[in-house]
Amino acid sequence: METLTVKVGNVLIGGDNPIVVQTMCNTHTSDVEASVAQCIRLAKAGAQLIRLTVPSLAQVESLRQIKEILRSEGISTPLVADVHFSSEIAIAAASVVEKVRINPGNFHKDHDKAREQFARLVQVCKENGTAIRIGLNHGSLGERITNLYGNTPLAMKEAVMEWLDMCVENDFYNVVVSLKASNTFVMVEAYRLLAKEMQNNGIVFPLHLGVTEAGNGDGGRIKSAVGISALLSEGIGNTIRVSLTEDPENEIPVAQYLADRYDHRIHSSMVSVSIEGKKAVASYSAPTRERLILDFACDFGKRLLDKELDEVELTGVDDAEYLTDELMQAARRRFYRPEYIACPGCGRTMYNLEGTFEEVKRRTSHLKGMVIAVMGCIVNGPGEMADADWGYVGEGNGKVSIYKGKSPILRHVPENEAIDRLLELIAEEQ
Ligand code: SF4
Repeated sequence: METLTVKVGNVLIGGDNPIVVQTMCNTHTSDVEASVAQCIRLAKAGAQLIRLTVPSLAQVESLRQIKEILRSEGISTPLVADVHFSSEIAIAAASVVEKVRINPGNFHKDHDKAREQFARLVQVCKENGTAIRIGLNHGSLGERITNLYGNTPLAMKEAVMEWLDMCVENDFYNVVVSLKASNTFVMVEAYRLLAKEMQNNGIVFPLHLGVTEAGNGDGGRIKSAVGISALLSEGIGNTIRVSLTEDPENEIPVAQYLADRYDHRIHSSMVSVSIEGKKAVASYSAPTRERLILDFACDFGKRLLDKELDEVELTGVDDAEYLTDELMQAARRRFYRPEYIACPGCGRTMYNLEGTFEEVKRRTSHLKGMVIAVMGCIVNGPGEMADADWGYVGEGNGKVSIYKGKSPILRHVPENEAIDRLLELIAEEQ
């Protein structure tokens, strides 16, 4: 899909440029030393853009220091400020780093004030050559939009179009857009609707793709690959982030695989496939297990999502049944275990997210079909959990809130008791 070209420091996104691989630090941005060290590791691993959370105005200064140290060490990777709930932080960060990500769902509470503040942000971006990502998430759609369109892919598209219109009104085109969701079907539909509408309007902004809160391990990789590959295979998408609840370095090879595959630098290792009716049987000669699961997810994820196929069978590997179950679940065609929503963690995370998520998975694996969220922070977590039945949300200071749907039903639970409390509450409901 032909798009505008956006300049983020020394990286170009969209136009004829290759797909850009990006990731996000999970250090505290105020810990400048740790953030610099992680940025260096991520840049060396192949990240072309690195995002850091900026939860307060004070951390804009940390961001400035991080950037200065990186540049003095010869690391030129552009930095992106991730901003929620404060248009003032976005405006301050726009003169410090190469790109600012804002979330339209929480840029400013008041709609008219949001327009004013956005015009100020654009002005600073123009003066400094900074790019903006309009980064909308399914879980954090504003109330005004959900009242009009429901909690749907259409609502996501409509919400983001308002902001793209504001960019055009302000004569500002250095803009990338994302419409992430944890649900692969919702995510793919939202991007398709947006791509079509932008094409109809004749101004196509580059798209940043991602399946948000995809989790970890095989499941996180397969889910991310299903959603992202479905769109890249249609020519939709210019930059990608694979969100895993793991060390962010682990995201890079997965994202690089997707970029390489859809920029036609590598091909699937599938050696045979037979399709009868709506069932496919396939085998692979992949060099690694990660490569096998990514090839499998990309070869069949979109066809399952779009219901061109109803069943797939993988042959020739020991855990074929498990990998097929994971793929069917990622494409939302069959649920064999709970559906987990787990954020990747960032500088707002105040507890051992990876370890807790593993423990929650281990102790809830029998709850087939239930949607369970494990979120790193109380600021964004509840809003990003989308359609979770239950949520484990870190408050900080060793405390956790437990949510049922969108409502907190237990607050300030000590971390060492929180999984027990969650399981008790779930048992009471069953
Ligand atoms: S929900 Fe997770 S990734 Fe999002 S801001 Fe909070 S800790 Fe960071």
